[in-house]
Amino acid sequence: MNEATLFVRTRPSRGAPAGTSEGELAIIWALSRQRAGRLRTIQPQGAKKRQKARSDRRLSESPSQLWYLLAHVRQPDAHDADVLSECHDCGLVQRLPDASVAAVVLCERCGARLRQVRHNSVVLSAACAAAGLGLFALAFVLPTASVWMQGGRFATSDLVNGPERLSQNGAWALALAVVITLLILPFAKLSTVLAMSLALRFGRVPRWLKACFTALPVFTEWAMVDVFLLGAIIALFRLRAWMLVAFGPALFALGGAAVCSVAVDAALDRAVFWHRVPLGPKSRGARTPTGWLACHGCGLVTHAAEGSKCQRCEQSVHARKHDSVRRTWALIASAALLAIPANVLPVMTITKLGRGGPSTILGGTRELLHVGMWGLALLVFVASILVPLVKLGALSFLLVSTSLRSAAGLGTRTRLFRLVALIGRWSMLDIFATMMLVTLARFGWLGNVMPGLGASAFCGVVVLTMLASRAFDPRLMWDAAGQNPGPAIAPGVTS
Ligand SMILES: [Zn+2]
Ligand SMILES: [Zn+2]
Repeated sequence: MNEATLFVRTRPSRGAPAGTSEGELAIIWALSRQRAGRLRTIQPQGAKKRQKARSDRRLSESPSQLWYLLAHVRQPDAHDADVLSECHDCGLVQRLPDASVAAVVLCERCGARLRQVRHNSVVLSAACAAAGLGLFALAFVLPTASVWMQGGRFATSDLVNGPERLSQNGAWALALAVVITLLILPFAKLSTVLAMSLALRFGRVPRWLKACFTALPVFTEWAMVDVFLLGAIIALFRLRAWMLVAFGPALFALGGAAVCSVAVDAALDRAVFWHRVPLGPKSRGARTPTGWLACHGCGLVTHAAEGSKCQRCEQSVHARKHDSVRRTWALIASAALLAIPANVLPVMTITKLGRGGPSTILGGTRELLHVGMWGLALLVFVASILVPLVKLGALSFLLVSTSLRSAAGLGTRTRLFRLVALIGRWSMLDIFATMMLVTLARFGWLGNVMPGLGASAFCGVVVLTMLASRAFDPRLMWDAAGQNPGPAIAPGVTS
């Protein structure tokens, strides 16, 4: 923020919501000038003007305070839905710039992505989603890989027999995790985008589709086609050491589907989609608004009561995630406990020509090192051992610093949280690699791989750490440091 940011004269601001009063225009104008770095200090004369200047200076010190004031000056209207946005990482309510060019709008305080402005977003994302669904369907019917051993022994794997083999060998939890992350959620993500595009085209969005579209970020985080591909490649390279391996066409189809899924993410401008969903009527008997709340589902910022229904997506609106700190601690503690059996128990039992035995995660990495696959060994070590440890450590650090109400390095801590949320899913690499090994290596004493209890425990660790980062609300760090208007003590932080 510029230090000398005063405004004494009111000037209309372009793009201000209809019905904005002169005082509000002054605030909006000051904000836009501040942002452009063009606000000059004008020294007012006289005691009254000096007093006004002091209060203006105080106001202009923090844009969140300005918006806080604006929120109390005027009731929001439908137009605000597209003008205001709350940063999901730091809680700053800010006005989005005109969306006339394709750009990424970042939070001015913490750098989080507020909006991705894309032209023809609905058509482009529908096309990418349809192509992805086609390739995904193809991957279902084709084999993912085939292997041959001496004596004409042959085995093939596809997307269905992988989880089947896991559950037959008692690893039903693993099979369930694979079915959800590899089959159900990628399909749910692509079909939700396609259905929403079609629904907007026909001008009617059913309630269930709204609910699915609000869950789209969850689908994106938990849909792991890309992680599976890398895991499958690692497994096939390991198998190449003792049998003949052929990459199946389903791997290429899945690769295409993964690219389409990334293209959907790149083309999707959620604000455009939600903008075309009409606002519903305010629920009858609505409680008195508790403040300026952003809907977690669709991003609509309204003056609403805690726990009331969003006018657009019909999800419950909350200022902050419910009981975030306690839930995150509980999930971290469970994950840390489960990490012990995950690293001590064997993730699989490998038999080669009648020899071999149980192998842990670390053992698997060592085995890759012995056969000279340095790159893969490093990849497995980072994804399976380093990433879960870093996640647990980083989340604990964020929770402790929030409880201490520390204001130091808020930007860095928020970036750390984003990194933790981003890398967590890649730990599933070893689970998918194990599944491929179990499905393909089934030649009895010649070459066989069985899943171990450690694999299920490790899968539990990955799922729990991912849930922990989802349960943590990074806005609490900013609340606790007194950076957000409203309650200075974050809910859930014990004093
Ligand atoms: Zn922010
Ligand atoms: Zn909503």
